[in-house]
Amino acid sequence: SDKRALLKGAFRGLREGGELYFSDVYASRRMPEHLVADPVLYGESLSAALYAARAGLKPVIVAPVLGGQLLAKGVDVENYPGFAEAIQGPWLMDQMKAQAENVGTEMVFDHVASVDLENRPFTLSCESGTQWTCDTLVICTGAQAKWLGLDSEDEFRGFGVSACATCDGFFFRDREVAVVGGGNTAVEEALYLTNHASKVTLIHRRDSLRCEKILEDRLLQNPKIETIWDSEVQTINGTSGFPKEVTGLTLRNRKTDAVSELKIDGLFVAIGHAPATGIFNGTGLEMDGGYLVTAPDSTKTNIPGVFAAGDVTDHSYRQAVTAAGMGCMAALEVEKYLAALDVGETPDWKIAA
Ligand code: NAP
Repeated sequence: SDKRALLKGAFRGLREGGELYFSDVYASRRMPEHLVADPVLYGESLSAALYAARAGLKPVIVAPVLGGQLLAKGVDVENYPGFAEAIQGPWLMDQMKAQAENVGTEMVFDHVASVDLENRPFTLSCESGTQWTCDTLVICTGAQAKWLGLDSEDEFRGFGVSACATCDGFFFRDREVAVVGGGNTAVEEALYLTNHASKVTLIHRRDSLRCEKILEDRLLQNPKIETIWDSEVQTINGTSGFPKEVTGLTLRNRKTDAVSELKIDGLFVAIGHAPATGIFNGTGLEMDGGYLVTAPDSTKTNIPGVFAAGDVTDHSYRQAVTAAGMGCMAALEVEKYLAALDVGETPDWKIAA
């Protein structure tokens, strides 16, 4: 039927500055101006697309060129199942993308500016001017890097302060840099930076790391890395000319209150991520601490037809493999939802435990 054709017409992902959405859209949609293939965050969208395509939903992923935590990884990926040897994040994303495309996924470049989830079909408005309507939406917007919140951080961001070692580490060849944080990301960034910098100082606010043991061992054994414990960055210091340059940090020891100076050329902030849910404020989606709330053991949100997968809803695991699994769950739930609509049933929808 027409309805069936429309419902199964397309399945679409939209990504905005690290944000990615999937939705099933009407076949009568306008085509966007740019078509690009783009690796995506942790693969939840690609696994959703893979399953959706195999279910005949003709998935389309719309995403900006940049982004993706696996893509940004400059270190080996050793904990994604199925690979006996360590692999590179960008290579893994390329493989996932090719796999999704091989079964019929289409990739499109665009940014989502706003979302209307109150009316049906849902409407997604993109910066290119393209509007998409859809019956189902799978939100895989992931998470964005957190910042320290210092005025001096704002001043030097892009001029020696960064949240992506793989993107910016190259600019610090044979120079001295610092990394702030004590989790997996900070330790991986510090290890990666030793490929470029002459010295890397890891600054952590406590005296023990929360990263995996194997990473901690590598960090502590690396002769290029020094650690400063129990300390926080008070100010990032630098020059005011153009281009501005970072010259050092003022640190405060949280136990002794002692203030010290550290001479560095660059600072990498790696203090975790916050779910990228900004554009969903006011849409009626239930959130908790910024994370989209989903039903137990499900990707269903409180709005029937809207699903969420990966870091945007997961505050516990946040691993590549768990995100990919959630993408699969979302696609299966979309399929079930559309099938119920197709035969005139009201899809079962409750998110309470
Ligand atoms: P995280 O585990 O939340 O660690 C954030 C670190 O930053 C913590 O050490 C925290 O200190 C510190 N921190 C937070 N706010 C701070 C502030 N305002 N000032 C100074 N320090 C601050 O974040 P993550 O390292 O990005 O990891 C996030 C998730 O992604 C984790 O679940 C992790 O397992 C996963 N991940 C996995 C891999 C992998 O599979 N290999 C790689 C990267 C990330 P405290 O320790 O004192 O709280």
